[in-house]
Amino acid sequence: MIYPWQTQAWESVQQAKTGNHLHHALLFSGEEGCGNDTFIQEVAKGLLCLKPHPDGIACGECRSCQVFASGAHPDFMSIRLLEDKQAILIDQIRELNYFLGLSRSYSLRRVVIIAPAERMNINAANSLLKSLEEPAPDTHILLLTAHPAVLLPTIRSRCQRARLPLPTHTDALQWLQQHNLQHPAKQLLASTAGRPLAALELDTTDTLAQRQQWLTHLAECVQGQGSITAISAHWEKFDKSQLLDWQLDWLLSLLKQEVGNGEAEPDDKLRDLHRLLGQRRILSLYDKLLELKKLSTHPLNARLLLESMLILWRQTN
Ligand SMILES: [Zn+2]
Repeated sequence: MIYPWQTQAWESVQQAKTGNHLHHALLFSGEEGCGNDTFIQEVAKGLLCLKPHPDGIACGECRSCQVFASGAHPDFMSIRLLEDKQAILIDQIRELNYFLGLSRSYSLRRVVIIAPAERMNINAANSLLKSLEEPAPDTHILLLTAHPAVLLPTIRSRCQRARLPLPTHTDALQWLQQHNLQHPAKQLLASTAGRPLAALELDTTDTLAQRQQWLTHLAECVQGQGSITAISAHWEKFDKSQLLDWQLDWLLSLLKQEVGNGEAEPDDKLRDLHRLLGQRRILSLYDKLLELKKLSTHPLNARLLLESMLILWRQTN
């Protein structure tokens, strides 16, 4: 399935495919929570399918499609984070290099997906370079990342770049409203910076209430209300990395509003925060929280990390 906001990106891939000039290494970049993972799966399925529809979508019935669905396609390899690992490791890329040395089975092409590509560690990335420099015949390596700048420049320069767009607010809202939602679609989208699949996921959890509570506490900090110690105690057991991501999401969407690029309409609480902070503080808070983000996976004192975040919000400059 291709989401409505991906149609143009899909057509570009299909044009290159039918014109026989699809690059051997494609680097797709786009924000998480927009269905981009589904998109590259569809690209892979379509490239492998023996009888694709005229628009390039896989038929879903041929031998290739059936084996793909069972997860055992001999001409397909998917490289992901292994369970409990923070990075894609060199052994996984070695397996890929071995796979590329084998001959094709019954599809016309071989396809490899590497996602999230920015999570390759340095050794893995260096090992991949060789395969990108000396492409195997009839093979396409599809890399997906939400953070292209984190990839090695040598990897980026060997790939053809393709941007997967964030949907317009109208498209995202229309798509979201087709679902049976527990919360207002606009609120869900505002809470996820306009990312529709993230919004849908948010609807099914009690996360929205938690996010709103966290936002309320941050707004209190900005206004010099509430005690930092009490607020820290409230959130101490909560995933700090998640709390940081929410703060960064909100600040990013406020920054987008500042430059007139905000598609999602902010909810009232966020609009208040915008007014309280002003552009300069939004920027400096964003930078400082990004610094804290680097520490959030370390086993630091949880209370200390939380208090550091809250103090940033309370500071008046
Ligand atoms: Zn098929």
